[in-house]
Amino acid sequence: MGLSTIDRRTFGWSRRAAAIDLAVIAAAILILYAHPGAGWIERTYSGRWYPAIEHALAPFAAAVPFAVGDLLAIPLLAITAWAIVRVVRARNRGARLFAGLGVILRLAAVGAIVAVWFRAAWALNYERIPLATKLDFQTGRITAAELERLTTRVAYGLNLTYTAAHATPERSGPELATTIEPSFREVIARLGNAGPFAGSPPKATVFNPYLASTAITGYTNPFTYEVVLERHLSAFERPFVLAHEWGHLAGFASETAANFIAALTCTRSPDPAVRYSGWLGISFYLPAGEAARLPIDAGVAADIAAIRRGYAERIDRRLFALQWQSYGNYLKANGVANGTASYGAFVDLLVGSAFDERGLPKRRALAGG
Ligand SMILES: [Zn+2]
Repeated sequence: MGLSTIDRRTFGWSRRAAAIDLAVIAAAILILYAHPGAGWIERTYSGRWYPAIEHALAPFAAAVPFAVGDLLAIPLLAITAWAIVRVVRARNRGARLFAGLGVILRLAAVGAIVAVWFRAAWALNYERIPLATKLDFQTGRITAAELERLTTRVAYGLNLTYTAAHATPERSGPELATTIEPSFREVIARLGNAGPFAGSPPKATVFNPYLASTAITGYTNPFTYEVVLERHLSAFERPFVLAHEWGHLAGFASETAANFIAALTCTRSPDPAVRYSGWLGISFYLPAGEAARLPIDAGVAADIAAIRRGYAERIDRRLFALQWQSYGNYLKANGVANGTASYGAFVDLLVGSAFDERGLPKRRALAGG
């Protein structure tokens, strides 16, 4: 192995550094494997702590027009450069092997810190009480007849708002945020978020080519509390996607919840262009058979076809498959058993939940509040 050829000072420093790295990794594993329980998460973390964090920190990123999250790529690149330099500059093969192990350990320690930060900053929200439990929801209500009723409502909503939606000037950034905000706040309050919500106007990212080629419509940065929308989104998609990302920003980590929030925020909005976006968003997740039977006007059909054509043109099939496979694995690792299928599960919530006269879902009376 030739350890004797390694500079003693290098060895001594590396051993202490390695001990610190190992301690950091061990502490992180202990923290990451502690599950405080859905009741505590719902009441204390998602109900009090997280809204306070988001409310305090989101305004910082919201104050600048570019995505602060893009800047996070800089330390990542710097760490990678450091790792390469350290291995390359080692004196000989033995030292290089030793430096290589040290670098792997250091990267693992940095990764462990980021993982703990990610969980504390946002991802604990994955463990809150599911909406199906919180709401007056029954799977028995999800029948073929009820699904058909939803399909008819979607088609009716689309046909009714088509003209007004096309007459509405395109909105983006803060103007779009202001338009959906009142309806969004009502929805999240009903779903258990009565606390503060700062929100953040949607931004663009320098990594847009990646989003476009993998059909990612937007994302929420859990470190900077900002939301990014893909640049090619049509004006008819933007309100739904922003409401979805804001759902994440408000502490609803699950894709089912985010889509449910987007659907209710948009279809209940007083703004016809936002309602059109809501019905359109739901139409993309209807079961295939129902979607094919949508009795929509020719103009609506043309809008849907144009949106589908856009994705087909921008997508890189290999990258797309890789991205969604790994995102499915990520969701499963975070306790979302049905992975990316969780996006469509909000249709079940729409059909199986009871709603009040204002179109808001009724809560189930939970034992102990
Ligand atoms: Zn999402």
